[in-house]
Amino acid sequence: MDLASSRLTWNLLACLCLSVAPLTAQPTTVDNVVLITLDGARTQEIFGGLDIGVLRSTIDDVAVETTEVYQRYWASTPEARRKRLMPFFWGTLMADHGSIAGNRTHGSIVAITNTQRFSYPGYAEILTGKAHDDIITSNDNRRYPFPTVLDFLKNELGLDRNQVAAFAAWETFRWIVSNEAGGFTVNAGYQAATDPDPVIRALADQQFETLTPWDNVRHDFYTFRMAMAHLAAHKPRVLYLALGETDDWAHDERYDRSLQALAHSDDYLRELWEWLRAHEQYRDRTALIITVDHGRGNTVADWTDHGSETEGAQYIWMAFVSPTVSLRGEWRDHDPIQQDQVAATLARFLGLDFRSLTPTAGLPIKALFAPAR
Ligand SMILES: [Zn+2]
Repeated sequence: MDLASSRLTWNLLACLCLSVAPLTAQPTTVDNVVLITLDGARTQEIFGGLDIGVLRSTIDDVAVETTEVYQRYWASTPEARRKRLMPFFWGTLMADHGSIAGNRTHGSIVAITNTQRFSYPGYAEILTGKAHDDIITSNDNRRYPFPTVLDFLKNELGLDRNQVAAFAAWETFRWIVSNEAGGFTVNAGYQAATDPDPVIRALADQQFETLTPWDNVRHDFYTFRMAMAHLAAHKPRVLYLALGETDDWAHDERYDRSLQALAHSDDYLRELWEWLRAHEQYRDRTALIITVDHGRGNTVADWTDHGSETEGAQYIWMAFVSPTVSLRGEWRDHDPIQQDQVAATLARFLGLDFRSLTPTAGLPIKALFAPAR
């Protein structure tokens, strides 16, 4: 090899090294975050799938084995049952890309710190980084003066109103997501679209033709589809997707529909994940937190309910997917995680400190940011 060609080889190698290194090293921050909540989805179903006692309590005098729900979702172990209910979440997302805390049978506790155990206080705790027990005491359509992590990220990252977006099943999210109206894209409950995008327009029209039994909660289908259309049209860096049917069907004592809503949520997670993976702005540059506003009762008598008097409703679950985190599967035997840590954790994924805005907010969840070993 003469000097010229060896120099060429060396240059080529140097070049290769430079381009390969960033790909092989685990990144420490991401560019985008996605927050997803499944309203009132119990730890029992998330970690154990179909609850046979609850199913029995909701059917008439027929053998439980003959029901479609049983045939579709039953299996002999909790691990097999949850995988039948949420095959993508358990078979792919938590197995290959992320991890989940909250399975109390493994010594993993995730709890809310507000004492109310219903929706607005839970979402406020998630988004503002702390409980506001003295002030947020109802699910009324009211705005409070506490900035949310969505407000914070918009300001810190200098994003426009389409680059931060919240799509929600429940109309009260129009008030929950921000301490001021109009700062970023919000579409929640039965709400017309202001976006000229034709897909979003068509979905917004159709939602009014296909009503749910509830005046202020639309079908998750529309919330999800609008969020996907917004992703495609505007490429937001901060997205919040708040699904709700898991809670509403449970209140209506429709265990079958509540399970079906979880199964649909699993389909939505799959579609969202595949979309993120297919787009360079998001692939390996996006962190997801998937969680819930509150739990529900533990027993066949109170699985439909939640509130300050409902034992069990204080326990939630929380899943994390990020290219910066190598944890997979279920967390075991760790310090309890609190709901008020979500806001600072989301910000920390982006390299930002939410506590610079709200010093009393919960801390980022430490295990997600431990130095690689
Ligand atoms: Zn709720």
